[in-house]
Amino acid sequence: MDKNIIGQIKKLCGGEKVFEKVKLSDYTSFRTGGPADCLVRPSDIDELKAVIGFVRENKIPYYVLGNGTNMLVSDDGFKGVIIALKDLNGEIVFKDTDESDKIRVIAYAGCTLARLSSEAASKGLQGTEFASGIPGSIGGAVVMNAGAYGGEIKDILEYADVLDEDGNVVRLSNADLKFGYRSSIIQQKNYIVLSVSFILKRGNEKTIKAEIKELNERRREKQPLEFPSAGSTFKRPEGYFAGKLIEDSGLKGYRIGDAQVSEKHCGFVINRGKATSSDIYSLIGDVIATVYEKTGVQLEPEIKLLGFDE
Ligand SMILES: Cc1cc2nc3c(=O)[nH]c(=O)nc-3n(C[C@H](O)[C@H](O)[C@H](O)COP(=O)(O)OP(=O)(O)OC[C@H]3O[C@@H](n4cnc5c(N)ncnc54)[C@H](O)[C@@H]3O)c2cc1C
Repeated sequence: MDKNIIGQIKKLCGGEKVFEKVKLSDYTSFRTGGPADCLVRPSDIDELKAVIGFVRENKIPYYVLGNGTNMLVSDDGFKGVIIALKDLNGEIVFKDTDESDKIRVIAYAGCTLARLSSEAASKGLQGTEFASGIPGSIGGAVVMNAGAYGGEIKDILEYADVLDEDGNVVRLSNADLKFGYRSSIIQQKNYIVLSVSFILKRGNEKTIKAEIKELNERRREKQPLEFPSAGSTFKRPEGYFAGKLIEDSGLKGYRIGDAQVSEKHCGFVINRGKATSSDIYSLIGDVIATVYEKTGVQLEPEIKLLGFDE
């Protein structure tokens, strides 16, 4: 990338927050992915706005990254600017509502779901238990309508403040976000989630913490958390479970290099150590083709692909 462009981005948000030729394997839970020409870690909204404005105005390709826990990035990396949101404000603010049994919780983009869930539990607030073991950021969770164990973000979200395509902060209600299964309107628009308001119920701290403990034990028992992955690799096809279809198609443990269909949970593709993104991508392709051939069901990746021809 032109040194002049990097120099200008450094001027916008400080040289120590701008990195060249960064291995994206350090930013994804799969631990794979080649270098980004440039990666920026803005630490506040003004810096974020400035960088976004600059790349949009100059038509420089860019991609927004939360915690990188639902991403497969090509081994060729990304030719452009990755805007990583990890260093943004991650504050959580608790406010009373008009209803005495409900609390409004504002969480900012730098916050993880796990921290939100843990802090809410410590205050005896109910509603985020399902999310305690989902390793994403607040923004990524809204984009994906993250969910587990019968709960999803849509159930607790009141509104999200986003940066729109013109650089304005806009408030989107739950209905505006058009949540669906692992989807929201943000996937079709170039919005950036800045903060989210959740409505949680007052409950019993002990019961809430016990529920979180139990759900996390279930996860550890059923999911291959000991290996890098991006969680469930495939969307759940209507009327089926992806993991069961994959197992029934004889693909349990199927491997390309160090990429493998987990033997513990066939819905997870794992990196046994030295997998490349190309291994993972090929394996996903094989799984989709074989499951279709054996069962007639078309699987679709849940994870987001960056740098592949889709
Ligand atoms: C071990 C493991 C278990 C998991 N379990 C679950 C589970 O139970 N349920 C579930 O739903 N998911 C699960 N996941 C997947 C993942 O954690 C979720 O999809 C999560 O919501 C992704 O958040 P992220 O911040 O990591 O997003 P990223 O992976 O960084 O990004 C995902 C998408 O969101 C966009 N994005 C991220 N942040 C923003 C933002 N602030 N504004 C605009 N766009 C943004 C990115 O551009 C990208 O398109 C699991 C993953 C792992 C590794």
